[in-house]
Amino acid sequence: MPRPIHASISHSALAHNLDLVRRRLAGAASGPSPRVWAIIKANAYGHGTQRAVAGFAAADGLAMLDPMDAVRCRAGGWTRPIMLIEGIFDQHDARVAGEHRLTLVIHDDAQIALLENTPLAHPVDVFLKLNTGMNRLGFAPGGYRAAYARLAALRDRDVIGLLGHMTHFYGADTPTGVAGQMAVFRQTTAGLPGPVSVANSAASLRYPDVAGDWARPGIALYGASPFDDQSAESLGLRPAMALRSALIGVQHVPAGGTVGYGARFTADVPTRVGVVACGYADGYPRHAGTGTPVVVDGVRTRLVGRVSMDMLAVDLSPVPQAVPGSPVTLWGADGLSVDEVAAAAGTIGYELLCAVAPRVDMRSED
Ligand SMILES: *Cc1c(COP(=O)(O)O)cnc(C)c1O
Repeated sequence: MPRPIHASISHSALAHNLDLVRRRLAGAASGPSPRVWAIIKANAYGHGTQRAVAGFAAADGLAMLDPMDAVRCRAGGWTRPIMLIEGIFDQHDARVAGEHRLTLVIHDDAQIALLENTPLAHPVDVFLKLNTGMNRLGFAPGGYRAAYARLAALRDRDVIGLLGHMTHFYGADTPTGVAGQMAVFRQTTAGLPGPVSVANSAASLRYPDVAGDWARPGIALYGASPFDDQSAESLGLRPAMALRSALIGVQHVPAGGTVGYGARFTADVPTRVGVVACGYADGYPRHAGTGTPVVVDGVRTRLVGRVSMDMLAVDLSPVPQAVPGSPVTLWGADGLSVDEVAAAAGTIGYELLCAVAPRVDMRSED
């Protein structure tokens, strides 16, 4: 029998979250509602690309990094737009983009040169990326208009179809907000025609009025919160992944006894401790310490001691009925969010979702 750990993916939660973000954007739009690129990079934030695409059937487009993922989506029958959010890295990528009519984010001169020098089977749509302060990828404001002119020349030669504008926010989930970056964006793109794409999940939910023509939500579609100060549940989002396992052992630890590597937990009274088939090799964060919430047989309790490679230990004091085989929820069901577990481990839900290991059996729930 395989270990009892598994991740269930809910298509209806993915669809619900997409609809919620879409309605939020529509409610704030003065003109037509923004369209939505569903971001499915990193194996759809750990949920499995194919499952996510099924859940996002109503999305206007899909966006990701790897051209091969895009080709697989086309092969799976996706005919609407597909965007590569880091564009192309070589001529082979450029040819694939032309063949499969991919949309490209273009962030530097080398990528423009690839478009200038590679014969393409079909025109590709392009979003030109402006660096408005993230200082990761994108043209500096001073070089943006020249880049746009180079691409507009390619559009005149039918190498490019649509030519639009995009940027990425660093502060939509913090008190920084988006006003400063939007000012740079508006000033730099003033008078240049083309669709606009600026909003990640945080901006789509908190500043939906700036989203422009195409929003780019990721994490919210998977039912986790982009914010430190607002839970996914309070936003109306539903977790798309539930990570579950079971107890595979129970220990009676005497007062003064310790649990796990490094004896990081000492029982001050005799304590029943459950051993869960879930460890850091499954993607559970090793930085989660004593006190991290875990649900056993429907009851919220706490992790005790260090997380091992294949196991972790939980305090069974509030769950006297628990026995080997009792169900355990690590996150995503029974009122326990991935964001709470992430916070206990000093990280964010994104990292935990993306880190679920290939050895964890993944199933579709509905
Ligand atoms: C990952 C990513 C997004 C989605 O961000 P979330 O915070 O998950 O909503 C949007 N745009 C770009 C360019 C990205 O890389």
